Amino acid sequence: MSHVFPRHCHAQLPTAVGGDGCYLIDSTGKRYFDASGGAAVSCLGHSNERVRQAIKDQVDRLAFAHTGFFTSDPAEELADLLIANAPEGIERVYFVSGGSEAVEAAIKLARQYYLEVGQPERRHLIARRQSYHGNTLGALAAGGNAWRRAQFDPLLIGVSHIAPCYEYAERAEGESLAGYGRRAADELEAEILRLGPETVMAFIAEPVVGATLGAVPAVEGYFARIREICDKYGVLLILDEVMCGMGRTGHLFACTGEGVRPDIVTIAKGLGAGYQPVGAMLCSGAIYDAIASGSGFFQHGHTYIGHPVATAAGLAVVREMLERDLPARVRALEPVMERELRKAFGQHPNVGDIRGRGLFWGVELVADRDGKEPYDPAKGVAGKLKKAAMAQGLICYPMPGTRDGRNGDHVLLAPPFVMAEEDAGLIAQRLAAALEDVLR
Ligand code: PMP
Repeated sequence: MSHVFPRHCHAQLPTAVGGDGCYLIDSTGKRYFDASGGAAVSCLGHSNERVRQAIKDQVDRLAFAHTGFFTSDPAEELADLLIANAPEGIERVYFVSGGSEAVEAAIKLARQYYLEVGQPERRHLIARRQSYHGNTLGALAAGGNAWRRAQFDPLLIGVSHIAPCYEYAERAEGESLAGYGRRAADELEAEILRLGPETVMAFIAEPVVGATLGAVPAVEGYFARIREICDKYGVLLILDEVMCGMGRTGHLFACTGEGVRPDIVTIAKGLGAGYQPVGAMLCSGAIYDAIASGSGFFQHGHTYIGHPVATAAGLAVVREMLERDLPARVRALEPVMERELRKAFGQHPNVGDIRGRGLFWGVELVADRDGKEPYDPAKGVAGKLKKAAMAQGLICYPMPGTRDGRNGDHVLLAPPFVMAEEDAGLIAQRLAAALEDVLR
């Protein structure tokens, strides 16, 4: 009997024993093309020599030194490299072990910032429905996914949720794209006014929505309006790039491509590329300075922040990404992925929408294409599709609807940046075969 506590208690999972470029290999020798990088993690594939060597070298040199006592070379160098390539105004990096921790740090930093500058009444956080920001209690409270939150709701901090920018489901008939973007963004202003502008500390959003909706970018103009509203009311803008950041959309920081400037930005997944658990919360110089010249101490911390081996892996990943200009490669592969997905699913009666950026794509499944009717959640289409895809030798990331909006099952694709052009066709074919199995 296995003593591992699995996510799905009755799941019979294969045992992963190896990784080779874009492929994962199980104990029977079966190879799976990793078209979702797990959950948008393995951006460099599974056997990158440089990252493996950097980890070994760092373990030999120094495995751990607590950040209460020391800084370390890899943490310093990775912070320098990230800041040199960060969005305008972002000047400091706080390392953590993953995405949820990065979001927790961001929420607490926003709160402490307003305490330091003498506005203690600013304590409200606004987020969006159908978003995911992590599974710890604070991050889960920020996320707007009814299904994930349901059992824990009395324990969660109060966060108000506005609509996401989700054109496929929410743009009204006849409404222009610009009009829709404006209407969706204006919900933020309405919520700030409802709460009282002097009580709102921050708004958090994913620049491209990942796990809950399936690679949904905002329409043009949406984030420009969001930034304008945040500036008008002194509300900090936290952009959660845990999934869409680190080159995934064709830019090291997704917000650069989306044309929006954050006050705080979170990254993880692609930063360690799966080689080590590492994430980061980055903030503006203004926020840092307020704390430095105030209490001088960010009231936060975990034992493993700035871990030397984790940051050494992150440093090797970001160097590899920049020296090989992988974000440019992602931008070049974007139309190839789109073409193959449209070829396979563009006319499919049970595919309502195909959308994405870079190597971050979502395919939305529907029971009825014309009425955009999602599948009955009881049918468990996403779960069945995951199994069927694995049988085809494909790892993709099907997710059920969040049950708090009109979104239903979808599949997220986030293949390694090092994939070949032909792999886009392979992904689409295997996914199509798996979908046919499920629908049959
Ligand atoms: N934020 C976003 C946008 C995410 O997609 C995720 C993970 N899917 C998280 C936060 C949480 O990250 P982690 O699972 O590393 O805690």
